[in-house]
Amino acid sequence: MSAVTLGLPSFPPRSPEGAGFLRGAEKFPAAAHHELANAQLRRNIGKATHTIRAKRIHVTEELPDWEELRDAGSAIKTDVMARLPELLEQFEAAVIARGGTVHWAADANEANAIVTELVKTTGSDEVIKVKSMATQEIGLNEHLETQGITAYETDLAELIVQLGHDKPSHILVPAIHRNRSEIREIFLREMPDVDPELGDNPAELAAAARKFLRHKFMTTPVAISGANFGIADTGTLTVVESEGNGRMCLTLPKTLITVMGIEKILPTYRDLEVFLQLLPRSSTGERMNPYTSMWTGVTPGDGPQEFHLVLLDNGRTAALADKIGREALNCIRCSACLNVCPVYERTGGHAYGSTYPGPIGAVLTPQLAGMHGKDDPNSTLPFASTLCGACFDACPVKIDIPSLLVELRHQKVEQSGVTAEALAMKAASYAMSSSTRWTAAQKAAGLGRIVAGKKGKISTLPPPLNGWTAARDIPAPPKQTFRSWWDSDEGRAALDQARRGAHPDSDGKAEK
Ligand code: SF4
Repeated sequence: MSAVTLGLPSFPPRSPEGAGFLRGAEKFPAAAHHELANAQLRRNIGKATHTIRAKRIHVTEELPDWEELRDAGSAIKTDVMARLPELLEQFEAAVIARGGTVHWAADANEANAIVTELVKTTGSDEVIKVKSMATQEIGLNEHLETQGITAYETDLAELIVQLGHDKPSHILVPAIHRNRSEIREIFLREMPDVDPELGDNPAELAAAARKFLRHKFMTTPVAISGANFGIADTGTLTVVESEGNGRMCLTLPKTLITVMGIEKILPTYRDLEVFLQLLPRSSTGERMNPYTSMWTGVTPGDGPQEFHLVLLDNGRTAALADKIGREALNCIRCSACLNVCPVYERTGGHAYGSTYPGPIGAVLTPQLAGMHGKDDPNSTLPFASTLCGACFDACPVKIDIPSLLVELRHQKVEQSGVTAEALAMKAASYAMSSSTRWTAAQKAAGLGRIVAGKKGKISTLPPPLNGWTAARDIPAPPKQTFRSWWDSDEGRAALDQARRGAHPDSDGKAEK
């Protein structure tokens, strides 16, 4: 009888390196350092996030069942992740039954190749796009450009970012870091036939963009979209947006190609009821988003006559396989967690180096693309948080982002092997596990007063501790520890006095 080798189970692949935008060029602390130097950026982001935050609180507080809605959203997404393969197959069958074509892309490279081939088949060298984070994640525009195909973003904020040769800084408001006068300058510089007298008020800027885009809508035969939700039981795709440009994209061209992350599935059409309340309130602070477009396959004589759906993995199966990390896939990309994050508010989105910035980006990016040791920029993202918990409170699907960040920090420490920080923690643990050692360590720390000198603070520590003093001073250690003060005459006197204060009739002696 021959031996049977079952082999070892292997971890699903992450997003490939070098494709798309899931890994920055530098570590978060270095990137944040540049961004913090930009006072205008901090002002722009602070103003925008505070405005959206206030609106969100107003429209969520007016709903008596907001917490129940959050629970329902969380439960539906948890159910989806538990039976994703089955729901995806149901979804695929429903899309095909309604005249669509389904393509499966294991990673960014495959997705880019599929979309490029589909566009080339139409004979067009231009495409219009409705805002899609999935295509940003895989770097589709840049790939199409190498193939001689120009992609035009039609979401106004995306268009500003594209014309500014910039990168998005926010999930929902990609140009959040730009103010009106900066946008005016970009339009004057980059838009053909723009009126040189263009002002910087929103109405004039929107009119200029509308004129530019209207021509593209009428003449471009191919559109590429993302999807907010895909409904398994009907094969319906959904895009929610504020401007109507997305709807033009989704209805006017002959061919529509949708790139959707496999986690965007909802089981039934009825589930939309929950998410169409959660999403606009959490993202823009509106009761309902102005445009909700839904389409199912193709409809003869109405809308695009050819519909392709590209289902993108790109590390999602790897995240799903991680018992803790799979919770991050519940995200509906509302951006509420960004708008309340004190770290994001000061650094902006570029510092994260990924399509997904802010608290959820710090979780999702390492999940999708991996953390390859201590020198990988992605391994610094889980530390880009104060763990204040504001993101957890704001999240409409109750993703416990702080716990996920702590787990990723743990994984990073495990991967990094022996570091100066790990050794320091080990030493601290050794000292703290014995009262004798701890007392001796406290006495030794008192020597720091000599280093601090008359200033009473230590401004520079030697390596590897110099990272700590690079951004702050350490106050001189106190003259005595709490324990030695407690044992001193002064400590005893203070205790007696406190007891007399608590019991005015007492002589300060303990009752027998
Ligand atoms: S993690 Fe929650 S709050 Fe943040 S974008 Fe996703 S759904 Fe919104």
